[in-house]
Amino acid sequence: MTGFDYAARMDRARRELAEREVDVLLVSIGSDLPYLTGYTAMPLERLTMAVIPRDGETVLVVPELEAPRVEAMPDVFRIQPWGETEDPIAIVAALVGPAQVAMIGDHTWSSFLLALQAALSDTVFASARPLTESLRLIKEPAEVDLLRRAGASADTVAGLLAAETFAGRTELEMSRTVGALLESNGTDVAGFAIVASGPNGASPHHEPGDRVIGEGDAIVIDFGGKVGGYCSDTTRMFHVGEPSPRYHEVHEVVLAAQRAGIAAVRPGATAASIDAAARAVIQAAGYGRYFIHRTGHGIGLDGHEDPYIVAGNERPLEPGMAFSIEPGIYLPGEFGVRIEDIVVCTDEGSERMNRSPRHVVIVH
Ligand code: ZN
Ligand code: ZN
Ligand code: ZN
Repeated sequence: MTGFDYAARMDRARRELAEREVDVLLVSIGSDLPYLTGYTAMPLERLTMAVIPRDGETVLVVPELEAPRVEAMPDVFRIQPWGETEDPIAIVAALVGPAQVAMIGDHTWSSFLLALQAALSDTVFASARPLTESLRLIKEPAEVDLLRRAGASADTVAGLLAAETFAGRTELEMSRTVGALLESNGTDVAGFAIVASGPNGASPHHEPGDRVIGEGDAIVIDFGGKVGGYCSDTTRMFHVGEPSPRYHEVHEVVLAAQRAGIAAVRPGATAASIDAAARAVIQAAGYGRYFIHRTGHGIGLDGHEDPYIVAGNERPLEPGMAFSIEPGIYLPGEFGVRIEDIVVCTDEGSERMNRSPRHVVIVH
C-alpha cells in the first residue's frame, strides 16, 4: 500500500495515545498494522508487532524471514528483525520498558498477549480497539478513491452477470464465476460471493452449495473483493424467468427501504437513524419481522468494521465514514431479497460507491 501518508497516521496515533494517557500502542496482525505501517503481516505463530510509544520511535518487530517483505519507511518506523532462536516477547518487553499503560491491537494471538502480560507484570493492558477504530473511521480521499474503484469493479461484474446462463448451474459454480469475473475486471483479490437460489435466499449468509438453479428461481448474489487493500461489497437480485407479482412487491419494498436509508445519510444523522429510516419502510409494508439483520456495516481495509448501522448506535455520521446500506426481506421456504450498496458520507449527504441498476435482472 503506497501513496498514503503513514507519518501523518503515526502522528495521529500518538496524539490519541496522549489524549488517552496511554504510554504505548502494540499492534500485531490484522488491518491496523498495514493502516499504520503499510505492511501486511502473515498470521503466523512467529510474532510480528509494531511497538508505537507515545513519545519516541516506532519499532516494527518482525521475524527475520519476513523482513524482506517490509517496505522500509525510516521516517515512520525502524525494523527490528528477530532470528529463529531469539525470544520476540523479550524484545518487545524491552522496547515497552517501564510503560504503565499499554494498548494492544484487537488481532493479537492470545498466547502472545498472555506472554507479554507475564513479561510486563507492572504494565496495565487495555484493548486498542477504540483507538484504532477512531483512526480508521474517517476515510481519507485516497481511501475513498480505492473504495470507489472497488465498487466500480463490482458494478462491472453485476452488469456482466446479466449475460450469464444461470439455469442448470449450481450455486457453487455461479459463485466461482463471480470470483473469476471480479479478478478479470479490476479487483485485485476476490473475497466472497454468496449465491443463494430459491428458498436458500431466505438465509442471508447462505453458503453456496450444489443446489442446481432452475426456472422460476429468485437468486441473491452478494459479493466483493479488494482493490489496493480496500473492500467492495454489493448485493443484486437475479431471477430465472419472469418473477411473480409477490416477488415484485417484495423487491419494490426492499428497494424503497434501501433508497430511504441512503437518503437519510448526512453528517450529524446517527447510525441508528439510518437503520430506522430503512426499517420503517419495511415495517410499514408489513414485512418488519422478515428483516432479520442490521441495515449495514462499516467498510474499509476490513469487510466489516465501524460504524455499524444498527439500532442503539447513536454515533453521529461524519463526512468520510464508509458503510453499507443493505436492507432485506427473507421469507422462509420462499425466497429472499437484499439490495446492498456501499456509501460514503459527504458534506452534502452521501456518495454511492455502487451504481449498477438495482432492479431485478431477468436471466435464463
Ligand atoms: Zn452480510
Ligand atoms: Zn454484502
Ligand atoms: Zn455487506
